Amino acid sequence: MSSHAKKMMVGLGFAFLVFCPALLLAQTSPEQFLGFRVGTDRKLADFHQIHAHFQKLDEESSKLQLLTVGNSTFNKPMLLAVITSEKNMDKLDTYRQIVKRLRDPRTLSEEEARNLAREGKVILLITCNIHATEIASSQMAMEFAHKLVTGQTPFDAEKVLDDVIVLLMPTINPDGQQMVVDWYKKYVGTKYEGGPMPWLYHPYAGHDNNRDWFMFNLAETRAVTKVLYHDWLPQIHIDEHQMGSTGARLFVPPFMNPPLPNVQPLLWRSVNLCGANMSYDLQKQGFKGVVHGRSYTGWWIGACDDTSWLHNVVGILSEMASVRVASPIYVEPNEIPQTYYEKSMEFIDPWPGGWWRLRDLVDYELTLTFSLVKTAHLHKEDFLFNFYQMYKNSIEKRDKNEPYAFVIPASQHDDGTARRMVDILLFGGVEVHQAKEQFIAGGKVYPAGSFVVKLAQPYKPYAWALLERQKYPDLRQYPGGPPIPPYDNAAWTLPLQMGVACDEVTETFAANLEKLEKAPPPPSQPVDASSPYFLFDCRANASYTAAFALLNQKAEVYRSKESVQAEGFEAAAGSFLVKNSPDVQKSLPGLIEKLKVRAYSLQDIVSIAKSPLRLPRIALYQSWRSNMDEGWTRYVFDDMGIPYKTIHNDAFKAAKGKRVDLRAQYDVIVFADENPDIIKTGKPSQASEYARFFTANYPPEYEGGIEKEGVEALKAFVEAGGILVMMNQACELAISDLQVPVRNALERVERTKFFCPTSLLRVEVDNTIPIGYGMPEKAAVMFSDSLAMSTRLPLPEWDRKVVASFPESDILLSGWLLGEDLIARRAAVVDTSYKSGRIILIGIACQHRAQSHGTYKFLLNALLYPQEEKK
Ligand SMILES: [Zn+2]
Repeated sequence: MSSHAKKMMVGLGFAFLVFCPALLLAQTSPEQFLGFRVGTDRKLADFHQIHAHFQKLDEESSKLQLLTVGNSTFNKPMLLAVITSEKNMDKLDTYRQIVKRLRDPRTLSEEEARNLAREGKVILLITCNIHATEIASSQMAMEFAHKLVTGQTPFDAEKVLDDVIVLLMPTINPDGQQMVVDWYKKYVGTKYEGGPMPWLYHPYAGHDNNRDWFMFNLAETRAVTKVLYHDWLPQIHIDEHQMGSTGARLFVPPFMNPPLPNVQPLLWRSVNLCGANMSYDLQKQGFKGVVHGRSYTGWWIGACDDTSWLHNVVGILSEMASVRVASPIYVEPNEIPQTYYEKSMEFIDPWPGGWWRLRDLVDYELTLTFSLVKTAHLHKEDFLFNFYQMYKNSIEKRDKNEPYAFVIPASQHDDGTARRMVDILLFGGVEVHQAKEQFIAGGKVYPAGSFVVKLAQPYKPYAWALLERQKYPDLRQYPGGPPIPPYDNAAWTLPLQMGVACDEVTETFAANLEKLEKAPPPPSQPVDASSPYFLFDCRANASYTAAFALLNQKAEVYRSKESVQAEGFEAAAGSFLVKNSPDVQKSLPGLIEKLKVRAYSLQDIVSIAKSPLRLPRIALYQSWRSNMDEGWTRYVFDDMGIPYKTIHNDAFKAAKGKRVDLRAQYDVIVFADENPDIIKTGKPSQASEYARFFTANYPPEYEGGIEKEGVEALKAFVEAGGILVMMNQACELAISDLQVPVRNALERVERTKFFCPTSLLRVEVDNTIPIGYGMPEKAAVMFSDSLAMSTRLPLPEWDRKVVASFPESDILLSGWLLGEDLIARRAAVVDTSYKSGRIILIGIACQHRAQSHGTYKFLLNALLYPQEEKK
């Protein structure tokens, strides 16, 4: 409600309440509202109920204000409840201004900072339920809010809320929350109760919604990022998760090794302080099985709480042992692994096993969340002053290995993508400047228009970790033994992933710089609308979007087979040639404006070797095993305006007595990165290390895979001229079942001999052949459970061309690589042909989490493969 209306109610209510203190508790509890106690076995509140309960609390309490801070992918409101004392509620803007001032020590003396730390309030952000099946926190949030506003807390709530502004987001994945509750309710009481959904629990990303926190692809990530680094600037942030069922009951920090070197020591100490207080408060109340220092490392950038560390925000992770969504489980003591059976200093009070219920999760989470609120209150001034201090360190203290700046030169392979990267940096809170004049840095001349990221800025750790190349430490189980894998990526270097040139400059330099709010569009170039032809250079990813848009309106489009001169510019082989027409003339200005892409005029294309294009009919396979890479591929297609149809297993099954004719329906079929056994049968093979994770049973309509029939239909599709695109692990299906003249050199190689956990590697690209069109000759690729392929002399009817391959040495660009010699000279991308069609093997993660824009073209070129001209 409005603060004015609230004040009126508070004013009126006060006189009345003197005589009627019972009404102080008049806020509707979740139990009254829902008709069941939060955390009751097999009972869940869905998003609409949670939303309605928070609206009710907003109406009833002057200590809670419900805001919407954005919309989800499916347009649900992103809810944020502000909970603080009535007094603070009237001065929220003042307190937001205070933390804003504390964030920039360049304009604030230490003494002023001390005063502001005294005057200000700690802002604590609590985000729940990012992983939708980890549902307990979305339920807990209702009870937490109600208890906090009614003072049913383990502390004096009046006093604590006077120091702390709590920002509570009951779910930061509302679409997923609703899907999971709907699915659970549909099958409760059947043999599928508590089982997994056959689709992703975020519309695009599934579990990977917690891998998006530097790229900001998802609407939900953007909404929370605005709260974190633009609108509210919390000092503390907790993200509440769940983990497996049979180990510890709860993880809270400290985190385990290795730490990201860019994060400040004071930040880690603050994280540890909060974690220790949580463990302590839980222990006091007899909660068992709390662990720290295991499983979750201090090395990463992609997760919600991790990106907080890099912004000097005290980022906390909690991970509860799961039940089966809302169904209780019984854990036999012998099912508990030895490491969670024995006492150790990280795990001092083991849980003995037995029943485990949703309410247990709610109780632990209430306790740990209240503990964090109390810690925020106890150390209020410290947290606020440290906030200032860490930003001051960022700006004033220079590490001996620290570069002075990163420079993004004005001249880029793909200018639009470079500008997109600048916008991503700005959204993450990074200060970026643009040079107004030419300057010299690190002995190199940079033209005006180049971008500069100076590291002496408030969010230095973040800017640094995002732009530099990672060197993951060589951690082994024992000396010379197998590597200890990182929690997720070993590397993420954004310029390498996006194919953007970016130089690290060690020594200081002077330049005439202008601070940016947004990446400026490239200088506009007039288009001669009467030109008979237009050209879009295929080095720019945006040119592919333009090509799809023009093909969609039936424009005549070709791909050049060689480099083309247009208006004195040399466009790359594979560039798009578009014949002018009234429709083209009409749509061109809009396309150029929207895509920030350049169209060059061409007088004639007769002398240019070229192939015609037509709008491909694209199918994207979606298994019923919630494959995240399929979701990200869909994201890339939607983002780039690429039309496609999602197909499932039934697309490969013919009616009785008939054969499936995929070629009649599609020109290109795309398989995202997925285990080939899952594609074929819906299950990993029994021999696979993943087999033990696949214990769930699905309703019959979601069982199985494309089966033998599907493999045969794919082969017939290729024979008849179709293009089959296999990405990463899916390549194995073509190798094992479609007889491509290729093998994977890494098949059955042990981890001690070869290990490369999601890292960036160097490849050499043949950009004179279609799949390599528009790529630079040297590129960085994301290697993530990827392949290193050897081709062989093909049988008749087959052919193969290596598009990209790993060099002889110095393959690692960022991250961790053991056993380089096993992939040296091997192929990363191979274009094979069989009869009239093709199988494109993209053995690396070319559209990894919609982050690796620098290698999108391998996929885009497969979609817009030039047609052979009829002989
Ligand atoms: Zn999680």
